Amino acid sequence: MTKMDFLERYGQEDEPYVCASCGNCTLVCPVFRELKWESYGPRGKLHIVKSIIEGEGEFGEDFAHKIFLCNLCEHCTSVCTTGISLDRFWEVARAEVRQRGLMPKPAQFVLDSLKARGDIMWMGSADRLLWMEDIEAIVKDRVMKSAKVAYFLGCNVSLKSQLHDVARSMVKIMEYAEVDYTILGDKEICCGAPLGWAGNFEGINEMAEKNLELIHSLGVETVVFSCPSCIQTWSEYSRYLKEENDLELLTTSQYINRLVREGRLKFDEQPMVTVTYHDSCISARVLKVTEEPREIIEDIPGVYNVEMTPSRQSTRCCGAHGLLDVVDPVLSSRIAEMRLRDATVTPASRIITECPRCILAFDLAKFTTGYDMKVQDITQIVAESLSPNDVGGDEAK
Ligand code: SF4
Ligand code: SF4
Repeated sequence: MTKMDFLERYGQEDEPYVCASCGNCTLVCPVFRELKWESYGPRGKLHIVKSIIEGEGEFGEDFAHKIFLCNLCEHCTSVCTTGISLDRFWEVARAEVRQRGLMPKPAQFVLDSLKARGDIMWMGSADRLLWMEDIEAIVKDRVMKSAKVAYFLGCNVSLKSQLHDVARSMVKIMEYAEVDYTILGDKEICCGAPLGWAGNFEGINEMAEKNLELIHSLGVETVVFSCPSCIQTWSEYSRYLKEENDLELLTTSQYINRLVREGRLKFDEQPMVTVTYHDSCISARVLKVTEEPREIIEDIPGVYNVEMTPSRQSTRCCGAHGLLDVVDPVLSSRIAEMRLRDATVTPASRIITECPRCILAFDLAKFTTGYDMKVQDITQIVAESLSPNDVGGDEAK
């Protein structure tokens, strides 16, 4: 038998043999659902690994590519009858792909960009200030100031103009609630999540050290994130750094919900609108944040939430996670269209979510399908529903 060393290195060598071949994972896999070949689904890929271990298959370019045709959406992990952490298995397999020099070119570009620029889009630190342009007077004193609360935007919200309103909305909310907060501005760097998706685990150490050093230097106790993948990666920093990470890490919906319960946010009656809340894979299946955004929506007078099927922990992926959007944009977009269809069969006219990747994926799927639905982050619907007050006000938006 030719064992694959990398599986032993990461303690994953038993996984292909633990699999009971029940097929639960295949049934929920969005990639299998689109491509309809067993070898593209999770069970099929595990079987291929088994055949490679037993000397019957080859870890070549074809299999390397298949390993990257995956959203790392964790749906397979959540339904596996034998409790295999399939998401970890895929990341470990990607580490081997990298080791063997078989990385898909677009994924390699993301890694090169992170190394050269500290972000995923070959931009640069100065571009992380662009979202502030209209509200500079309000936020300039917040950059790198000592505070108990930090708002960490993440690469997508910082750098993609379609998402700048998410950051501006969060600023409006924090100004309204008179939160003493800080933002890192051009000092913010990627959380390192894409490194993990590309199997470069050691690279995350460097990101973790830089981010934690900055946050600790400002006396921060709570970090609020616009991106669920950032918070997932931060929560694993102690694993990479082998030290305790004592920060409170919250999604924007968790933090906003806290502000609402403390009576620090007040909403005005809105023109009646029906929305449907989309749970991002990482928020629902990893962070288990499903109720906070729904509670917030319920608190806004005039806004009604209807559920999509499936939802919460069984949610369907938007197609843009785990580097699939760069490795195979067409497949990624087809998966997004599938989820958009779930929304269009509800009476809702708007999708609310709290993941920047989902917003980008649905906006693209709207274009490819012609479905006309507004897509918003939870911060945007909250910011536009606030009662007028003297703090921040419309200027902050
Ligand atoms: S993580 Fe998601 S896309 Fe990848 S194999 Fe599992 S269910 Fe399929
Ligand atoms: S759900 Fe788990 S046990 Fe069943 S086929 Fe998939 S990996 Fe194997």
